[in-house]
Formats: sequence, structure tokens, C-alpha cells
Amino acid sequence: MKKKKSIVIKDPKLQRIRNNLREILIKMFQNKDIKLTSEIDAISRDSEGQLRMHLTPSESAEFKRLKDIRSQISEIVDKSICYCTGCKQINKDMAYNAKLKRWYCLECSEEFRDHYYQQKIRKQKGEFLGDYHEFFFKTFT
Ligand SMILES: [Zn+2]
Repeated sequence: MKKKKSIVIKDPKLQRIRNNLREILIKMFQNKDIKLTSEIDAISRDSEGQLRMHLTPSESAEFKRLKDIRSQISEIVDKSICYCTGCKQINKDMAYNAKLKRWYCLECSEEFRDHYYQQKIRKQKGEFLGDYHEFFFKTFT
């Protein structure tokens, strides 16, 4: 089996530094998201907070530009190592899932990998697996 890329920090002091840096980055992204949302609302809503039905071409262009930036930031955060994609915790050692292009903590990775093998056995026995996303779980093997 090909070894997965993982980053494990054993020193508690370094873990604390890592966790604090992740928290700072996430707060920075959240603040940027709040600022962008406020700017988007300023364009797209009237003084009573209702959505405006018609925007000028320049307002539409600015609206789209801001939404694109917000979307790009969201994607950067989702792909970052700041938190586990599975459990959303920020204080874990992480493993990179290259097929999904996302970081998962070691516990979630192991849980998803175990689930895949358990489902594989059930499948071999001919059991009904219901709404099982085999592709997703297989990426952890
Ligand atoms: Zn996790």
C-alpha cells in the first residue's frame, strides 16, 4: 500500500503553536468573509435589507467580482490544512487525501478507511449497502 502523506506533531508545545496558527488563519478568513458579505449586501440589498431586483451593470459586475472572491477564499479554506474536512476540528494531526484534494485528521481517515473495508466485506457477502458512497471511502485506502 502506498504511504499517505501525513503531518504528525508530537511535541505539545509545537501542537499548541500549530493549533493557534490554524485558529488565527481561520479567524482571518472568517473576518474577510464577513467583510465581503457586508460589501455584497451593500450592493444587493436596499436600506430595509430587501434584495434589490435591478442592479446597474457596474453594480452587477462588482457584485459578481465580490462573490467570486468570496468563493475562492472559501475554496482555499476548504482545501487548507487548517481543519479536518471530516470532523472540522483544528487541533488534529492531518493526512492528505490526494484524490479528494482535502486534509482529514488521522482519526477520520482511519474511520473512513475502516468503513470502506467493512462495507467491502458486506458487499462480498451480497448484503444491501443502501446509499453507500464507495468512491469517497475508497480514497482513504
Ligand atoms: Zn477529523
